[in-house]
Amino acid sequence: MISRQRARSHPQPGRLVVGVALDLVCKVFAITGLAALGVIVVRSLTDTQGLTDLSGADRWWGFLFLGALGGYILCAAWRYYHGKRTLCSLCRGPVFHVQPSSKHRDATKWPGLGYRSSAVLSLFFTGRYNCMYCGTPFRLKK
Ligand SMILES: [Zn+2]
Repeated sequence: MISRQRARSHPQPGRLVVGVALDLVCKVFAITGLAALGVIVVRSLTDTQGLTDLSGADRWWGFLFLGALGGYILCAAWRYYHGKRTLCSLCRGPVFHVQPSSKHRDATKWPGLGYRSSAVLSLFFTGRYNCMYCGTPFRLKK
């Protein structure tokens, strides 16, 4: 939804950039881990002759899955703490942390996505977002 209000510049644009990067890296880890898990499952289901070889390629898919899982856990923890400390300069609501309180009707919300993902993707593609708690539009640039 496009707000008629002029977007304010956020006082801490660096924190917004870090929050967007953390969320996108988390998503890449999640997609990589799920893809590796999918390959492992499909290969073990289509392996009717017991040819699954844990010393070869299957092992590397397993390592890829474990690496992506570990990376996701570390990145999600960092994203959680960073998200709790990146606050809206008007209402003091956390920009990247969804609280169970009611959301503003002007909040950035894309169909099929949550409030955090919508804010992250909106910042990534347009450089602006509307606070999910007070609805105020913010922009990344000064
Ligand atoms: Zn706000």
